[in-house]
Amino acid sequence: MNRYYPRVVLNEKKLRDNIAQIQMRCTEQGVNLVGVIKGCTGIPACAKAFEDAGCQYIGTSRTEQIRDAIRYGVKGPFMLLRIPMPSEVDEVVRLAEISLNSEIAVLRALNEAAKQQGKRHKVILMVDLGDLREGFWDREDLLAAACIVERELQHLYLAGVGTNLGCYGSIFPTVEKMNELVHCAERIEREIGRTLEILSGGASTSLPRIFNHDMPARINQLRVGEAIINAKDLHDLFGCDMSFMHQDVFVLEAEVIEVKIKPSHPVGEVTFDAFGMKQVYEDRGARRRALLALGRVDYAFPDMIYPAEEGVQVLGASSDHTIVDIEDARRDIKVGDVMRFTLCYASNVFATSAPNVKIVIEREP
Ligand SMILES: *Cc1c(COP(=O)(O)O)cnc(C)c1O
Repeated sequence: MNRYYPRVVLNEKKLRDNIAQIQMRCTEQGVNLVGVIKGCTGIPACAKAFEDAGCQYIGTSRTEQIRDAIRYGVKGPFMLLRIPMPSEVDEVVRLAEISLNSEIAVLRALNEAAKQQGKRHKVILMVDLGDLREGFWDREDLLAAACIVERELQHLYLAGVGTNLGCYGSIFPTVEKMNELVHCAERIEREIGRTLEILSGGASTSLPRIFNHDMPARINQLRVGEAIINAKDLHDLFGCDMSFMHQDVFVLEAEVIEVKIKPSHPVGEVTFDAFGMKQVYEDRGARRRALLALGRVDYAFPDMIYPAEEGVQVLGASSDHTIVDIEDARRDIKVGDVMRFTLCYASNVFATSAPNVKIVIEREP
């Protein structure tokens, strides 16, 4: 195999294990899983793993990632998570069986596209429960839109309602928020005289409701990526016990290009770093440090990559270099050695979308 760094290694078995763990817990509580691939920039092998696990849908925010998955042989069905751009409705209907929506103009355009393609496209109407990203805010508008889809837009099928929390407004999916979504659904059901099939209760951040066994019974779908591909996040952010999950499905690897003992405090007049930021440097005396051929263009946030080995600390980074303290490392790190880092959602999306970071799928455990 060609050695090429930096690279992100996806361990397929660990991914499949993690999908199975989350799926089992959701299924037990009557909740279907949408496997979300956008957190790893839609790596097709990830879509395949979700498909093989029998996920209800494969979800992503970008049609390009659906196209890549289809080219790889994944059949789906696919869910488009981001409200469709009016300019992409044809593609959305062609590639996705279902989409999340919040604008009547988009719904009309989807209906027209579905008519032309001789299809019936499913839609979920999104309700904004306070996170202030997508979704109907006014409940009368929501009800009106539901009635229009149900009665006028013959090439759409109103599959249900959904919400998204913990993305912009940092709002936690409490039991109360979940019940609000149920109430919205019931109001629509009374109006249209039938049951809605899908109540989509959010993303990874809604999983604490599953872990606590207090998800309202009518919520029957979650759209989950992060908790599966970066399992440490739910532990770090919400204190969830994620010890049953692999924390290293994705590992970022980089090559050491310099090892030297240098002062830990910069020498001279301290001004700004490469990104125009004022930094604070702790003076710990002279210490051994390694320079990596890896930088912020590859993962964005130096405080969001986590050394896989003990005694190593990320000190900082510029565009194309990362500086790590290796004074207390357990091995003798030399030029040409490879250092490994686990990731969180933010660093994972950047690393997997960086053009200079190779993606390698590891098929052995
Ligand atoms: C990204 C996204 C998800 C999945 O989020 P994760 O944090 O990866 O679980 C679900 N729903 C919508 C609307 C999204 O945009």
